[in-house]
Amino acid sequence: VSEKLRNSGLLRTQGLIGGKWIDSYDKSTIKVNNPATGEIVADVACMGTKETNDAIASSYEAFPSWSRLTAGERSKILRRWYDLLIAHKEELGQLITLEQGKPLKEAIGEVAYGASFIEYYAEEAKRVYGDIIPPNLSDRRLFVLKQPVGVVGAITPWNFPLAMITRKVGPALASGCTVVVKPSELTPLTALAAAELALQAGVPPGALNVVMGSAPEIGDALLTSPQVRKITFTGSTAVGKKLMAAAAPTVKKVSLELGGNAPSIIFDDADLDVAVKGTLAAKFRNSGQTCVCANRVLVQDGIYDKFAEAFSEAVQKLEVGDGFKEGTTQGPLINDAAVQKVESFVQDAVSKGAKIILGGKRHSLGMTFYEPTVIRDVMSNMIMSKEEIFGPVAPLIRFKTEEDAIRIANDTIAGLAAYIFTNSVQRSWRVSEALEYGLVGVAPFGGVKQSGLGREGSKYGMDEYLEYLTVSCATG
Ligand code: ADP
Repeated sequence: VSEKLRNSGLLRTQGLIGGKWIDSYDKSTIKVNNPATGEIVADVACMGTKETNDAIASSYEAFPSWSRLTAGERSKILRRWYDLLIAHKEELGQLITLEQGKPLKEAIGEVAYGASFIEYYAEEAKRVYGDIIPPNLSDRRLFVLKQPVGVVGAITPWNFPLAMITRKVGPALASGCTVVVKPSELTPLTALAAAELALQAGVPPGALNVVMGSAPEIGDALLTSPQVRKITFTGSTAVGKKLMAAAAPTVKKVSLELGGNAPSIIFDDADLDVAVKGTLAAKFRNSGQTCVCANRVLVQDGIYDKFAEAFSEAVQKLEVGDGFKEGTTQGPLINDAAVQKVESFVQDAVSKGAKIILGGKRHSLGMTFYEPTVIRDVMSNMIMSKEEIFGPVAPLIRFKTEEDAIRIANDTIAGLAAYIFTNSVQRSWRVSEALEYGLVGVAPFGGVKQSGLGREGSKYGMDEYLEYLTVSCATG
């Protein structure tokens, strides 16, 4: 931990409840470690049911006053938060690298990206318009007002310790909701630092709470509380399904950003260089640990061998190492369980006939580093074709025709992101529309099928935190 970070006041280890930094009630803690070195970075409060209930109560109490501020007043506070996040992007980036492992440059990039949601929704707060509906009775006038849904529970993952929080908290606070955030227990430090800056920006006590610790306890408290009106979650499909079911008894609004199984489809007519660069970025960002990472690389017959060669050459140039080391492009995986999962997927593919072109094993750096890997002759019966790898392994799958590509690409329960490489404009339209995916390209962000529910980012992201109130006025 650098001197600057230590002196910044951003290294928080307590939870934030009702505007106060507090220990867990039984003083228990969880250790946060640096995945690149195994070093313990901090002991943070390990909270559970009681703390979460108090956080919910404080958010519930803060709701009337926060939601009654004018949009302009909330906007000013959010804008100040954005400015503070940007002013501290170095320290926040260091925290991200420290607890998550991604290269520092990428981490600082995440701060800019994460902060942009706060900036955007600070502006968008002022544009929540209502409607006037022609009445069904001549002596009535009908209005639709958009109102904040209430207290929001936000459960977020470790792969983007800042951005997955801001894209939820930004629109929630902008619309007048108050929020209880549960960051991943693996990466709480970034969340706490961001919350400290929110306090400095003037976000009032209770409008934003942060609790971390026992995921099932905190999750249950959020889900069973009738005061929590919405659950927004980013994480695994399995946990998302559980949360959706548990939200039913209290009929909460639910937004889910779940796992993907993104195909990157390279047609014969693609520009080889563009396809290599594009797939490299889509696959190896954050060492393959994003839900929109290319999980399957579908390559047409005619370009398959050329692509395999050029792609492997590009992958070979990736620099694996500690995220703080200059030049590193690939950090470690988040923990050993993640590496074991990757190992088992690779073993399964090889046992069924796939061939490793590059990598295929743990990196000599040890810890949770894994070699950037390219595997060819991957078939649909192999686990890596069906499940999210979430690691630096690119499986190459061969296809013959456009119809084959679409069939293979859609043959999955996921439907988040897809990538197409072709020089034909007609084909890119045709294939984009035939793919059962929420995003082919970019924004707004969200999946179809079992990849999720709701949208994040853009003007559509705001609707997730609003309810429609119909007002019927009599004129006589
Ligand atoms: P990932 O594979 O990204 O770790 P998870 O779905 O396990 O995905 O984790 C995403 C978030 O969900 C984390 O904050 C984690 O603590 C939380 N989580 C995991 N299990 C539960 C649960 N049973 N109830 C509530 N939150 C949970």
